[in-house]
Amino acid sequence: MHELSLCRSILQVVERAAGDQRVNAVNLKVGQLRQVVPGTLAYCWGLVTEDGPLAGSSLRIESVPVAGVCRDCGEETEIEQVLVLACGSCGSAAMDLVRGEEFLITTLDLDDRAAS
Ligand SMILES: [Zn+2]
Repeated sequence: MHELSLCRSILQVVERAAGDQRVNAVNLKVGQLRQVVPGTLAYCWGLVTEDGPLAGSSLRIESVPVAGVCRDCGEETEIEQVLVLACGSCGSAAMDLVRGEEFLITTLDLDDRAAS
């Protein structure tokens, strides 16, 4: 289950970034080409954080659709069916992928109260 190892990596990054501040939520952007199941990712986050300082924090996952730019006409197309990589404007298959491979921690929601 690669969601579990992803969560361990996120945890390391978040712990380093937050220091001793309390984290309420971690906001993530995940490209659809990553083939991550958001529900599974959130579940694994609960598992990897339950015994540590981040217990009870939530993982908010924003899914980023796959998008490509056509090399023939320059139009950008969001691709719903990754099997069919074609320009939505002219139908060309000469596409450069511009979105869909993200795996980014965008922001941390920190607790306003000072760490005790
Ligand atoms: Zn095109």
